[in-house]
Amino acid sequence: MHKKYPLYKQATQQWQKAADFFELDRDVRTILSEPKNEISINFPVRMDNHELRLFRGHRIQHNNILGPFKGGIRFHPQVDHDEVKALAVWMTFKCALVGLPFGGAKGGVTVDPRELSSGELMRLTRRFTHALGNNIGPEYDIPAPDAGTNAKTMAIIMDTFMNAQNTTNRNAQRHVVTGKTLTVGGSLGREKATGQGLVYVLSSWAKENNFDLSKCTFSVQGYGNVGYHAANILEKMGASMIAVQDHTGSIFNPDGISTEDLKNFNLSGNPIVEFENCEVIEDHEFLGLPVDVLIPAALEGQIHEENAGKIQAKVVAEGANGPTTIEGENILKDKGITILPDLLANSGGVTVSYFEWTQNKTSSQWPLEEVDRKLKIIMDQAYAQTSQICKEMKTDFRTASYIVALRRISYAYQERGIFP
Ligand code: NAD
Repeated sequence: MHKKYPLYKQATQQWQKAADFFELDRDVRTILSEPKNEISINFPVRMDNHELRLFRGHRIQHNNILGPFKGGIRFHPQVDHDEVKALAVWMTFKCALVGLPFGGAKGGVTVDPRELSSGELMRLTRRFTHALGNNIGPEYDIPAPDAGTNAKTMAIIMDTFMNAQNTTNRNAQRHVVTGKTLTVGGSLGREKATGQGLVYVLSSWAKENNFDLSKCTFSVQGYGNVGYHAANILEKMGASMIAVQDHTGSIFNPDGISTEDLKNFNLSGNPIVEFENCEVIEDHEFLGLPVDVLIPAALEGQIHEENAGKIQAKVVAEGANGPTTIEGENILKDKGITILPDLLANSGGVTVSYFEWTQNKTSSQWPLEEVDRKLKIIMDQAYAQTSQICKEMKTDFRTASYIVALRRISYAYQERGIFP
C-alpha cells in the first residue's frame, strides 16, 4: 500500500507557482482556489451474500469556465475526498492546456474493484451513477475511465443515466460519458489514447533534445491502460522495456520484456511476477534501475523525497496524475532529470474523449487514422507551446504547462467577466 501525500496541497502549490510567474488576476486566483461543487455520497449496494454494504463516492467539479466539467471516475481502496479534489483541479488545467472546450472534474469510489464480483461491480456502478443523478450530464459533467474503471464501466454508467431519462430523449444522452466500448458509441483510438499522447509528447521532447527513442530503454510503473499502451507504442518504435512494476510486484530483464506477451499473461489472471525470463526484484529497487526513460503510470505520490535520489533516467514521462511529490520533483531537478508533467504527458486521454464526445453529438465515427492524426496535432501544439514558455520564462515543463493553461482560463474570465 502506498503512502498518502496531501494531494490537494500539491496541486494547489503547483498551479499557484505558475500563477505567481504569470501574475494571474487576483479574482481568477480566488475563484480557482476551491472547486465549484463538491459532492460526496454514501450509497448502499447489495452484495452477492445478500449483505447490504455502504460505499462512499465523490464527484468534485472544480471549474467550468471553458466548457462542461470533464474528468474520470476512479475505483480504488485509497480514494478519498482530498485525492478526488486534487484530480479535479488537474483536469481543469489539463483541458485548458490542450485547448479543449471542457472544465475540470473528477470522481471516485473507495472500493477495491478486484475484490468484487462482476455482478457486485455492476450494481455498485449503477447505484453510484443513480445517486449522482443530474450532477452529471452530456452538456454538464462528463465522466470517463480512470484507475480501476474501464470502457465497460462507462457503458454501464451511460446505460444507467439513459434509463433515467424520458424515453424519447434517451439516445441523445450517449455523450454523458466518454471512454465507452466501441459498440455503445466509443471512439476508435480512445483506449490507447493516453499512452499514445504520452509517446507523442516524449517524441517531441526527444526530437528537441537529440535523444534517440528507438534505441532507448524504459521502465513502466503501473501496467494498466496507460502503462501498457505507452509501453507497447514505444516498443513498436524500437525502444526496449526492461522493467515493470504493478501492485503485485516488480520484474526486470535487461534484454527486454515483450509488452504484448506480458499484457496477455496478465489479462489471463497471472501476476506479472510470474512472467517468464524475468528477475523478480524488490519494489524499492525498481525506481533505481538504469533506464533512459521512466514512465510512472500507476498512482500519485510514487516519486518522493525518499526515493527520487535513486532515479537514473534522463526523462520521467508522467502517465499517472501526480506521481511526483513537490520534494521528489526538487530532487529530480537538482539531478538534471527532465519531467514531462502529467498535465501534458497524459492529456491524450481527455483529448480523444473530446473527439468521442464530438462524434456522439454528430452520430459519426472517425477512422483511427483521423483520431491519431488529430491527436498528434493537439499534442504537438501543446508540447510546442509549453516548451516555448520554458525557454521564454526560464522555467520547468510543469510550471510552463500551468502557465499555458492559466492564460486560457484567465482570458475567458476577462472576456466573459465575472458574474453578476
Ligand atoms: P488502470 O487501473 O488501468 O491501471 C493501474 C495500474 O497501476 C495497474 O497495473 C495496477 O496494478 C498498478 N498499480 C496500482 N497500485 C500500484 C502501486 N502501489 N504500485 C505500482 N503499481 C500499482 O489505471 P489507468 O487508467 O492506467 O490509470 C493509471 C494512472 O493514469 C492514474 O494515475 C490515472 O489517473 C492516470 N490517467 C489515466 C487516464 C486514462 O485514460 N485511463 C488518463 C489520464 C491519466
